[in-house]
Amino acid sequence: APLQSLSSQMIARVQPLTTTRAVRGPFDYRIGAGQAVQVGSLLRVPFGSRSSLGVVVELAERSELAPERLAEPEAVLGAGVSADLVELAEWMAREYCSTPARALGLMLAPGAAAGMRARLALVAELTPAGHAALNGGDDVRLTDRQRGLLAALSQQGPTVAAELDTSGLRRLEGRGLVALTRRARPRRPVSHAVGAASATAPPLTDEQAAALGELQAALGDGAGADRPPEFLLQGVTGSGKTEVYLGAVQATLAAGRTAIVLVPEIALTPQVLWRFQARFGDVVAVLHSALSVGERHDEWMRLRTGEARVCVGPRSAVFAPLQNIGLIVVDEEHESSYKHEGDPRYDARTVARRRARRHGAVLVVGSATPRPESVLVMRRLRLTQRVDGRPMPAVEVLDMRGRNQPLHPETRMALADLRRAGGKAILLLNRRGWSNFLSCRACGRVWLCPNCEVALVLHRNASAVACHHCGHRERVPERCPACASVSVARHGAGTERIEHELREALGEEHFPVFRLDADSASLPERARTLQRFEAAPAGVLVGTQMVAKGHDFPDVSLGVVLDADQTLRFPDFRAEERTFALITQLAGRTGRGALGSRVLVQTLAPDARPITFATRHDSDGFLADELERRAALRYPPSASLIRIVCSAEEEALARDTATAIHAELVSLDAAVLGPAPLFRLRGR
Ligand code: ADP
Ligand code: ZN
Ligand code: ZN
Repeated sequence: APLQSLSSQMIARVQPLTTTRAVRGPFDYRIGAGQAVQVGSLLRVPFGSRSSLGVVVELAERSELAPERLAEPEAVLGAGVSADLVELAEWMAREYCSTPARALGLMLAPGAAAGMRARLALVAELTPAGHAALNGGDDVRLTDRQRGLLAALSQQGPTVAAELDTSGLRRLEGRGLVALTRRARPRRPVSHAVGAASATAPPLTDEQAAALGELQAALGDGAGADRPPEFLLQGVTGSGKTEVYLGAVQATLAAGRTAIVLVPEIALTPQVLWRFQARFGDVVAVLHSALSVGERHDEWMRLRTGEARVCVGPRSAVFAPLQNIGLIVVDEEHESSYKHEGDPRYDARTVARRRARRHGAVLVVGSATPRPESVLVMRRLRLTQRVDGRPMPAVEVLDMRGRNQPLHPETRMALADLRRAGGKAILLLNRRGWSNFLSCRACGRVWLCPNCEVALVLHRNASAVACHHCGHRERVPERCPACASVSVARHGAGTERIEHELREALGEEHFPVFRLDADSASLPERARTLQRFEAAPAGVLVGTQMVAKGHDFPDVSLGVVLDADQTLRFPDFRAEERTFALITQLAGRTGRGALGSRVLVQTLAPDARPITFATRHDSDGFLADELERRAALRYPPSASLIRIVCSAEEEALARDTATAIHAELVSLDAAVLGPAPLFRLRGR
């Protein structure tokens, strides 16, 4: 009953949707006669000398300002948000040091700020009389053309009139055989491959059934449970986690509630989405960036109106405008893409947890390599076996110390064997380009980015050296600008060089080499590369960490990680966790083929903890050890970490500010690390 108290609550507190941090709303407006306004309404309001969009965050009876000084909204626009999202936005503004306006900006209908509306179209459908006429029950005379139109409607259901024959349909409407109505015409994203996924659930394995049983019980408990229903579904790749999510969504829908399913990346791993669409059909809406803004708007509206009740999408789908949420799933919960790099710097996993609690919903996060954070606080459900019963692949460590070829002889041999047998391999190297850096053999000069304190990376295909931080590019140098020597050394290897070496070594015939990294131009192009690799009977896929993410190639029998300690060298307390996850995830995607299975890990640090645990497929061992290390060092989840970054064009200014902040913080009851210098990035 949204409007019952409208007569007494005449003031709307509005957050203008501006990105300026200096604007501190909310501001009061007097609700005009006939304006239906509630918390979450999207308004156009006069703001200073301009007008601005704004969202109502509160209704009030009086304002501190005199009524005559208050302006009225210019318009109430269609697509507002619900009150729980307004509350979530205010929480996010506090939690992530942002503003309510910026947080609200994430929650509105896509394109709403630009005035996007649903497209209206004339839609035709059969009336009962039309059905009867088509089936020849009554003696209605129809031309062949008219019979064709009725048959088309009978087959397709409601159809946009213009797609058939508007004037022909009008005549049938006149005879009561067809109904024409003007309605929103959804721009539906089409998944062409949905058909390949199964519409029915397979009989579950015992482990799946046990996990699903726990979730169903929690769904039934509702708010009565003694602790929040938060679950970690820990299961190796191929153990059937997605099938458990599907079962939980089914139970949620049956209980009359709605569900959100977060996935790391849809464009590259559409299979998960297809499975949801195949199982639940039209009640599934999808929100992701590869859709046009119009499609996203319409999918959003389907969720808002309740026509769609399951939302599948990447991190931003956590804001899906659903009511009565019963379940939130976070698939591949270890993925760093759940963190938003913009402002607000939210973590969709944290937001999901908060939203689930607010709705009394069950939260399920799943992974083969869960985060220590989740292990510590969530109830663990386990899937220990692959559904197909195959064992995990043997993982071998190859010591690269003292070697200067990018591929270990064992790796070369394994690849040659694989080519002979006609199998498939995935090679992971977390570095793009040809070589890491260039130096002058005569004077030692290293080619650096003019904006960042990093070396430029050679991209031979593009005849350029490029900065991977700011995008700066130069032509490949012919001589050294310092000493004029023409002898330039190339150090290290990136995906481009490995791709080239493999082609040289293996020959392309019958054994194609595919490359997948951020240099392979567009997202659709990358998706096509994956499809081509999948369709090929044999070959190698070389790429950065993208190759270890969520794809399901059933016939890969060799996995290789090059330079496995590279991620370990990152100055980040999560470096070990990432390294473990990368190797384990790649291993999980290997060894479901007919040719047996093998994983090779090339590294300069063969004894590093994460590498040793990964070779044993020992997630529990790694997690226990990692939790202990984090506790000893007071890192999350044993403590909370706040990062303060001072960025300036002048180094001294950043340093002095950081030092001053440090001096203020030491008086707090908190451990303060730093200030630690960062390198120059994008000129700052
Ligand atoms: P995960 O998400 O853990 O990687 P999936 O749910 O994708 O695992 O399952 C891996 C494969 O096994 C998929 O092709 C899926 O259709 C199939 N599968 C899952 N559960 C079963 C089952 N109970 N019976 C038969 N096949 C199953
Ligand atoms: Zn030189
Ligand atoms: Zn740069």
